[in-house]
Amino acid sequence: MSDNLEINKREYPSSFSKTAIVICLDGSQKEYLEEASKSNLTPNLDKLISSGENLLVHSAIPSFTNPNNISIVTGQPSSVHGICGNFFYTPETGEEVMMNDPKYMRAPTIFEKFYNSGSKIALVTAKDKLRTLLGNGLSFDDERAICFSAEKSDQATKDLNGIDNVNDWLGMPVPEVYSEGLSEFVMAAGVKLLEEFKPNIMYLSTTDYIQHKYAPGNETANKFYAMFDKYIGLLNQENVSIIITADHGMKPKSKEDGSPNAIFLQDYLDKKFEPNIAKVILPITDPYVVHHGSLGSFATIYLEDKSKVASVVNAIKEIKDIEVVLTKDEGCSTYNLPLDRMGDIICMSSEFMTIGSSEDKHNLSGLNEPLRSHGGLHEREVPFISNLKLQNLDTSKQLYNYDAFYYAINGAL
Ligand SMILES: [Zn+2]
Repeated sequence: MSDNLEINKREYPSSFSKTAIVICLDGSQKEYLEEASKSNLTPNLDKLISSGENLLVHSAIPSFTNPNNISIVTGQPSSVHGICGNFFYTPETGEEVMMNDPKYMRAPTIFEKFYNSGSKIALVTAKDKLRTLLGNGLSFDDERAICFSAEKSDQATKDLNGIDNVNDWLGMPVPEVYSEGLSEFVMAAGVKLLEEFKPNIMYLSTTDYIQHKYAPGNETANKFYAMFDKYIGLLNQENVSIIITADHGMKPKSKEDGSPNAIFLQDYLDKKFEPNIAKVILPITDPYVVHHGSLGSFATIYLEDKSKVASVVNAIKEIKDIEVVLTKDEGCSTYNLPLDRMGDIICMSSEFMTIGSSEDKHNLSGLNEPLRSHGGLHEREVPFISNLKLQNLDTSKQLYNYDAFYYAINGAL
């Protein structure tokens, strides 16, 4: 029997013989995989599933990229690790603070803990915004850790990333940030790292550029999953335990004429009450807005006058396509969110609707295709695929994407 390593109040086997790999396939609503499989584009994935598992689990809420990536790599939801969006708002100063700095993380990653106990760790992410969060706590001075992004692969150094000359090593130039190539780079690097670096734990996190633009079954979407499948064929070897999951799903959120389906909540509340009694914060907002125009299905609202919470909640409840409206306490306990980084009210829109702030604040000029987005309850169901039968699966409990490393590591014994 091996000893256990306790990480964020969960027990992981401290030693294991296979490589434990988790792949976060950004924005992969299950229908993308189903459609590609129906067109016979994913033979390797189909084979992997036939000897393993193909389950559906929940993501963390909000069903956004950063909160879920950090949930996956800490094994716990945002209430534990603190990252609940791309930024949070500080009412005292009026500042909107980006949460891509590790100082906002309140829990160590699984990587940091295993690294400190002697494991070799490899992390590759598509966008650089996640890299510093994922690599937090690792040292790169003893050839046991590698962490870089495809986006800034040309800037990786031995000192800061544990690897340099990535593009020569992989034989691939830096991909465009808005491209399928960014995710392909991640997968190709994963295959090469498995062969050469032989990590104990590896995490590969792609980007949802394709999923924001194209529906499941679309030719371009299918091509993406065929590409992914090629690398799965190379990764799925005897000595690996793989879990493939997603940070969130993806739903169409546009009107029949192709324009975005959005409730501009700041405008609504400004009109209903007086301007600026409420501040609508959309935690999806980030520097990479082209493919969603900052329109997602989750919002939190700050009120200067707390006595107005009930009346604002009631006013929001009148909006047909906002289906969850909760006070901060209710929302944080229901969805495992950190109380000090949420506004006084939490709300989520219906399946095909998004929530905006003020209409004039959203730059939608980059949206060349009808909006597809995420953030709410309708995008929290995500695949959970394993190349092995899951051991000790407790079917009485809800399984989450952030259980991925627990099962990948237990499968690697
Ligand atoms: Zn995402």
